[in-house]
Amino acid sequence: MRIAELLNRGRPTVSFEFMAPRDESEVELLERTVATLSGHAPDWVSVTYRLRTGEKTLELVTRIKRHYHIEAMAHLTCANNRDETRRILNWMEREGIANVLALRGDPPGPGEPFQPVDPALAHGSDLVKFVRGNGYRLGIGAACSTEKHPESPDLEQEFRYMRLKVDSGADFLITQLFFDNRFYFDLVARARAEGIKVPIVPGLMPIPSRRSLAFVTQMSGASVPEVLQRAIDEQPDDEGIRNIGVEHCIKQCAELLEAGVPGLHFYTFNRARAAIQILGALRGQQMLAS
Ligand code: FAD
Repeated sequence: MRIAELLNRGRPTVSFEFMAPRDESEVELLERTVATLSGHAPDWVSVTYRLRTGEKTLELVTRIKRHYHIEAMAHLTCANNRDETRRILNWMEREGIANVLALRGDPPGPGEPFQPVDPALAHGSDLVKFVRGNGYRLGIGAACSTEKHPESPDLEQEFRYMRLKVDSGADFLITQLFFDNRFYFDLVARARAEGIKVPIVPGLMPIPSRRSLAFVTQMSGASVPEVLQRAIDEQPDDEGIRNIGVEHCIKQCAELLEAGVPGLHFYTFNRARAAIQILGALRGQQMLAS
C-alpha cells in the first residue's frame, strides 16, 4: 500500500527507520531490533540505503514485508547512474515494494562535498522526477529540512527545493530530525500557505549518546535547544543522556500529536529501547492508539 494513503487516513501513523547493515557485525543487532519493534505495531517502516550495501536494503525491505507483513519502504539515493537506478527500481516493483524514499544521499563525511555519479541524478528532486517520469507505480517520499541544510546558504533554498520535489511527484515528505517543534510548525504553516498539500511527517531522534548527537547535528544541521544542551552537558554518562533524550522526545511527540501530525517517524539507529519507552508513554496517555 502507498504510504501516502496511510498518512491520509486521519490517524497518526507510527514508523521506524532502520539502518541497513554495513557489515556482518551489525546484522545481529539489526535483526533483533526489527523483530522487537515489529511487535510494537508500526504502520510502516523504512530501511536506509548506503553506498556499497544497497543490496542489503532491498533484501531487508522485502523480508520485512513478507515475514512481518508490515509495509516497508526502501530508501534510494543518487549513488548510482541512471541504468543502475532503473535496474533497482524494476527490482523493487517486481518484488512488490510499494514505496521508495528518493534522496540525494549523505556526503562521504561532514563538510565533504557530495559527488554525483550521474549528472542527471545530482539531487533528491532529480531522483523523484526520474522515478515518476519513467512510469513507476511506486509511492514516492522525499526528505525535507526544518532547519538550514549544512550545504545551503539559507532555509529559503531548502523550501524552494522541497517544493520542486513535490512538483516533481513526491507524494509525502519526511523531515530531517529536529529537537524544537517550532521549526516543524513553521515549515508546515508555510507549506500550507503556499499550496503544498502533501503530508509532512516529522522525523524524530531519541538521542542515543553524546557522540551520536554531535555527529547527526553536524550532518543534518539540526540545532539543540539551549535547555536541552545544558541538561545533556550535566550528564556524566550516555545512559543519563539517553534518558534525557527519551523524555525530550516524549514531550516533542505529545505536542506534535496534539497539533494533528500525520505520523511520527523514528530514527531508531537500530536500537529498540528508546522507541519502546516513547510509544509506551504516548499510548499510556492515550495519545496514540495501541
Ligand atoms: P537534496 O534535496 O538534493 O539537497 C541537498 C543539498 O542540495 C541542499 O543543500 C539543497 O538545498 C541543495 N539542492 C537541492 N536540490 C537542488 C537543486 N535542484 N539544485 C541545486 N541545489 C539543490 N542519506 C543516505 O545516504 N541514505 C539514506 O538512506 C538516507 N535516509 C534519509 C532519510 C530521511 C528521512 C532524511 C531526512 C535524510 C536521509 N538521508 C539519507 C540523508 C540525506 O541524504 C541528506 O540529508 C542529504 O544531505 C540531503 O538529501 P536530500 O534528498 O534532501 O538532498
